[in-house]
Amino acid sequence: MNIHEYQAKQLLSRNAVAVPPGDVCDTPQEAKSIAEDLLARGALRLAVKAQIHAGGRGKGTFRDGFQGGVKLCAAAADVYDKAKAMLGNVLVTRQTGPEGRRVSKLLVEAAPEIRKEFYLAVLLDRARSRPVLMASTQGGMDIEEVAARTPEKILREPVDAAFGLMPYQARKAAAALGLKGDLIAQGAKLLMGVYRTWWDCDASLVEINPLCLVDAGDAKESLVAVDAKLSLDDNALFRHPDLQAMRDLGEEAPLETEAAKHNLNYIKLDGNIACLVNGAGLAMATMDIIEHFGGRPANFLDVGGGATQDQVAAAFRIILQDPHVKGILVNIFGGIMDCNVIAAGIVAAVKQTGLPLPLVVRLEGNNVESGRQTLAASGLPLITGSSMADAARKVVEAVGSK
Ligand code: GDP
Ligand code: MN
Repeated sequence: MNIHEYQAKQLLSRNAVAVPPGDVCDTPQEAKSIAEDLLARGALRLAVKAQIHAGGRGKGTFRDGFQGGVKLCAAAADVYDKAKAMLGNVLVTRQTGPEGRRVSKLLVEAAPEIRKEFYLAVLLDRARSRPVLMASTQGGMDIEEVAARTPEKILREPVDAAFGLMPYQARKAAAALGLKGDLIAQGAKLLMGVYRTWWDCDASLVEINPLCLVDAGDAKESLVAVDAKLSLDDNALFRHPDLQAMRDLGEEAPLETEAAKHNLNYIKLDGNIACLVNGAGLAMATMDIIEHFGGRPANFLDVGGGATQDQVAAAFRIILQDPHVKGILVNIFGGIMDCNVIAAGIVAAVKQTGLPLPLVVRLEGNNVESGRQTLAASGLPLITGSSMADAARKVVEAVGSK
């Protein structure tokens, strides 16, 4: 699960990571009053930032041509205008895909005067099986590009999870960023706070791009997290009710949200052959075999081993709601799963929705005879597959000939 920049900043600031003062809002009027308040407290400039679960906002473009999901303003009236232009508008960035994301929340914060931009992240390094701290002087830009062109400019500091990030490692990273004097201690403390946030939240990624060296007045400089991204590990969410409450369903694929309500493991993909399968391994093999015969799966869907008739019916309705779907492949190997439950679920769903598309069914295993009878008795015009390969070939053909 991903959360918004403003939420990530709240979590980071609890661990003493400095973030610009600011607040979130959803109307231009509120944006203006946050701006007035920040100006009264001494802010010289303000940043208005679209809150969507995607990066690249600064260089993004709104559907109506308005440029940039991150805008700097000097006056509250200007904040009002920018907020009005962004709210309700669809922002397209290199991470959103062409459909973009509708902006319904803005972060209005004090915009510090930036002297230098760094990149900072904590994530799990699967190859080393450890957390790793990544830091680079090449902040603000695409880290993928830095990694491809100048990998030597990225410091990778592996962490022993049992000890956590050690102060000497944090100081080493701060020095590698070119920080000097008091800023080394300040930077090290900030890095410890970022690591702690990652650990305490069971996050899979914390990324601060840019971490900024900013003008702090009196010829001093300090470090501030100007952007923040936090991805949480779904498998650990059950132990963080406070983080679960940060979920923004408006940012998630609606069909996936609907599937989650029915306890179905559904992931939307961009092909046109929907699959309904029991078991994650069989579901992956089914997607592979569809590709093997030249088709493209529209989704991953594992109804699980103990699915009820209602869950199967819900699964069927969900795959039919995807407008890209041109054919359906049901591939069931009944072990714990009773094939007749699947058959009854499909018949129940089709009674409601009709069957506008070719449906290929391959059923095998536990109680398969009753399952076949249920399907035959329903009179549905389905195509049966005698094996997984046969079924996959038939659905690819049926879709191709449409
Ligand atoms: P992203 O494009 O979605 O990654 O959004 P960011 O929050 O990283 O903003 C993009 C760029 O805008 C940053 O790299 C900064 O250069 C600039 N920016 C963002 N916030 C501020 C701010 O408060 N002050 C200044 N001067 N620049 C900012
Ligand atoms: Mn950024």
